[in-house]
Amino acid sequence: MNRDRDGVQTRDLAFEGMLLPPGMGVCQVCAANHVPGEPHDRESLYYQYSFYQGNFRWPTWADAMAHCLPEVQHAWMEQLRAYGVPEEQIIKADVA
Ligand SMILES: [Zn+2]
Repeated sequence: MNRDRDGVQTRDLAFEGMLLPPGMGVCQVCAANHVPGEPHDRESLYYQYSFYQGNFRWPTWADAMAHCLPEVQHAWMEQLRAYGVPEEQIIKADVA
């Protein structure tokens, strides 16, 4: 429970909400079906909310591919930029 500057109580439901665990047979981090060496699905709502609850910010693609080999990350970054994905969705906020 937080209070804004007018003293109104607010709740961050994205932070407080309870997530059901991913089903069997999918990635347990992002709840999507992908090869372990490929990035997590940044668009997955499970991944977004789970990441938000652990990091107090929404994930970027850089977060989603932090576990990938450098060449995999490079290829994905190139393709994301080629598709016109906004830079703030690709790079970590504290790095951009
Ligand atoms: Zn995943």
